[in-house]
Amino acid sequence: MSRSGSTLSGTHGRHLPSLLMLITCSLCACPQASPQRNVLLITVDTLRADFVHAYGFEPANTPSLDALAERGALFENAIAAATVTAPAHASIMTARYAREHSVGTRNGDTRLEGMVTLAELFENAGYDTAAFVSNVVLRRRLGLDRGFQTYDDDLVRGESNRQSHFERIAESTALRAIDWLEKRAGRGFFLWVHLQDPHGPYAPPQSFAGKVGDVALRSERPLPVLETSVGRAGIPDYQALADLRTPAAYAGRYAEEIMYADHWIGKLVEAADRQSGDRGTVALVTGDHGESMGEAGWFFQHGHSTTPDLARVPFILVAPGVERRRYETVVSHVDVAPTLLELAGLPALEQSSGISLARLVKSHDAPADRLVFCDTKGEAAAYHALGFARVGVSSARAPAGAGLPMQFEAQRKNERGEWRPAEIDERTKQRLVRYIASRVPLVAAGVMEPEHIEQLRALGYIPQSDDAAGQQAAPDGDPAQ
Ligand SMILES: [Zn+2]
Repeated sequence: MSRSGSTLSGTHGRHLPSLLMLITCSLCACPQASPQRNVLLITVDTLRADFVHAYGFEPANTPSLDALAERGALFENAIAAATVTAPAHASIMTARYAREHSVGTRNGDTRLEGMVTLAELFENAGYDTAAFVSNVVLRRRLGLDRGFQTYDDDLVRGESNRQSHFERIAESTALRAIDWLEKRAGRGFFLWVHLQDPHGPYAPPQSFAGKVGDVALRSERPLPVLETSVGRAGIPDYQALADLRTPAAYAGRYAEEIMYADHWIGKLVEAADRQSGDRGTVALVTGDHGESMGEAGWFFQHGHSTTPDLARVPFILVAPGVERRRYETVVSHVDVAPTLLELAGLPALEQSSGISLARLVKSHDAPADRLVFCDTKGEAAAYHALGFARVGVSSARAPAGAGLPMQFEAQRKNERGEWRPAEIDERTKQRLVRYIASRVPLVAAGVMEPEHIEQLRALGYIPQSDDAAGQQAAPDGDPAQ
């Protein structure tokens, strides 16, 4: 993202009365006063797993995430529910896949409606709740603000190449979140912080620029700048940096943005631990989706597919009683809410497409034969621990399943961790088809606010002369977000 920063004035807060209550301890099934841990959820935009040192990236660029992995559980095969921002976060907050919630695969032009959110459950249990977000698509119009007593989406500056695409750097977001934490004396909290920095344009602050240097990609030829935000064999227009042309230089800047975000992740975890004291903190860090680094000719973009460069994200979990360990089990964004609720000592969600990983990280009892799903516009994938199958679907909004022309592709990881074409097993194929057919009707579009319409118009998505813009929607799965 650009180094535009923002002011630190006023958060928007409201405080509801506490409703602390006795609940049943879901891990031991004995009625008792729950420990009710504090909870810190950090989502990092556009963070692919293999650019994190704890997942094998060299040189070491993520000391804070590495330290978290030393304290708890690291999931090697964590799959984003979607490869664009809004549906991925909606899945994190509802434990439902993109085809099961009203945000769908569109990137923020429909609201989240009709489902209980993780924040509402924490608020109902008497927690202080707050969110601090850094990307324009996560503004409160998306509906993720429900249950958050404070929802800080005060984004005042645009990206360097898209002045209407509002965002905020990690320092601005994290300092506000830390300030909120420090006012919670003795109170239980659920805090969600979203950091935007690895999202392009890759322009880390001076103090981090050059700390990683060039990162060799398969292609080393200088790339042209594209005239659009989507396309192969070039640098998308919103990513263009005047002084950079080679893929290695862009990849290095991306790794440095991750290093910068990691610095503030460390500060946030420290502040949460300090505030929690004996109560203990459950902390989970994940990415919303990855980023292509030349795979299939796509550079520095996301949202165009469901392949591992875009789907595979870090997923690191620490909590009292959770030992340091790495897990091969495939996990998903839809597991976030069930896991945090159980580790916090709260009752489970009534409806969930995910599983709580609490049992896995406490007793190492892995679920057998698990598949998880990843969506983007016109494509869905089913992942298991060793590989995936994906299929193009003619439209994310069309009735899916029988009758659609479906082109399946499967890949598996070899011993060296490389992805190679594979046979599609019939069972995975059938489960993927059933998933595509399971989507619920989306809540109607047309919920955009005038401010949003103006932003889309400024970005060129809506013609200046189009008086009916209010009824139009943004392009599906805009990868620039
Ligand atoms: Zn994102």
